[in-house]
Amino acid sequence: MSEIIVRYPPSPTGFFHIGTARTVLYNFLFAKSNNGKAIMRMEDTDKNRSEKQYEDNILSGIQKLGMAWGENWESSRTDVVYQSERAGVYKKYIEQLLAEDKAYYCFSTPEELNELREKAQKEKKAFRYPETWRNADKKLVQEKLNAGEKSVIRYKLPKDITEITFTDAVRGEVTIKLTELDDFVIAKNLDTALYNFCVVIDDNDMKISHVIRGEDHISNTPKQILLFKEFGFDIPTFAHLPLILNADKSKLSKRKNKVSVDDYLADGFLPEALVNFLALLGWNTSDEQEIFTMEELVEKFSVDRVHKGGAIFDIEKLKWINQEWIKKMDISEFYTRILEYWQSEDVKNSEKYNFPLTTFGDLNSEKNALFLKEALALVKDRTKQLSEVFDNLELFYTDDARLAYSTDIYFHKKMKTSAETAVESLEFAKNVIEHLDESFEFTADSLKTVFVEKIKAAGFKNGYILYPLRVALSGAEFSPGTLELLEIFGKERSLVRINRGIELCQ
Ligand code: GLU
Repeated sequence: MSEIIVRYPPSPTGFFHIGTARTVLYNFLFAKSNNGKAIMRMEDTDKNRSEKQYEDNILSGIQKLGMAWGENWESSRTDVVYQSERAGVYKKYIEQLLAEDKAYYCFSTPEELNELREKAQKEKKAFRYPETWRNADKKLVQEKLNAGEKSVIRYKLPKDITEITFTDAVRGEVTIKLTELDDFVIAKNLDTALYNFCVVIDDNDMKISHVIRGEDHISNTPKQILLFKEFGFDIPTFAHLPLILNADKSKLSKRKNKVSVDDYLADGFLPEALVNFLALLGWNTSDEQEIFTMEELVEKFSVDRVHKGGAIFDIEKLKWINQEWIKKMDISEFYTRILEYWQSEDVKNSEKYNFPLTTFGDLNSEKNALFLKEALALVKDRTKQLSEVFDNLELFYTDDARLAYSTDIYFHKKMKTSAETAVESLEFAKNVIEHLDESFEFTADSLKTVFVEKIKAAGFKNGYILYPLRVALSGAEFSPGTLELLEIFGKERSLVRINRGIELCQ
């Protein structure tokens, strides 16, 4: 079998789209699992709509999701092929077709064509270009060109072929009758070739073996096959991926959905969860497995198992997959990822996710970092999106919201505590704290010494005082330890919480 070469051909006319990400992923998985390679090709022939910011966003997005391109999968920017730099190559082939009378200049104006289009619409017929200029007098054409009249270049649809049949790796045999096509435009002028033309020249030059792309391109495939044949090029294998649909079966649209990959990352979805989710948008294994690492996907992916029917974009499933990925992490990893997330540009600079990181103190301090880790450990497994975590840590930084808790949580059988006994415990703790010297160092260690000593002297059990104190400080049934909470909150905030506890229990 000849070498497997695929292409990633985004048009830089918008931010890295979730549908583009799925296409790139399937190309990546296919090439990777077949020891092939992927060529990064920027389809930037539309000068008006292509922008550098979109190009950067797409390239970095592909990398953020852990997909790669290039001979050695290094994703180098120098490996990117730009169609805008290949105009000279396309020109030669356009000239060849014109010289062989396989293409021609067409001077029909947009107004004329619109009129015909509207007429066809009224008659409920498909619009086809009426070949007005197909066999025009060469002298007349030359005169018009010399006079600088506006024209386009059309391909002369062969009259001796009635249909195009190709074997799609996903949908099997596909046949399209040539009566469904017309003399389509291949270039605006010699220097400006259009999509259907450029991809054929590129796919041939780049020795593309497999074209894996969205089903929305299937109507382009016969046009491209005609051109492949016209030039005597080898025709790649085509695989058209199912459309991505909303739950109501409508097409995933910019209006209804968040569609850029960065939006999902800023919303707290992990790149590996997004990849996992996208892989399942139109493909599955024969077993029940739903959580896959990239390595597993490379190992298990096969085009044979790509679905024909539309793939439903189910955001709840994405949340579930994300949660599963979070559950799999250990706490150090979760801590690192949360900090990366909070410090990422999209999150840091947005009003929506404006997290005051200073809340947790200087995280270079081992104690502060440990406290945050402990707090994170409490919320980790119920986190569906990283964006929720800050709110879930509310109890560690707000003095009011969480303090409206149910006093039932003061009940602890072993510690022999309840809302009734808590008043005594909290008054005791308050008294200890209020009587500390000005110079007292308010740290967990020093507090431990004082509390153990005072509790013992008063004849209480440690738990009888420290358990209700922890509840008052956290307002929660589960939280980091009492002394750590005291240290993190400091004297003032601790007293506010203790007073609030007394108030609630009385
Ligand atoms: N530039 C096209 C797009 O972004 C790619 C089409 C193709 O794969 O041939 O949709």
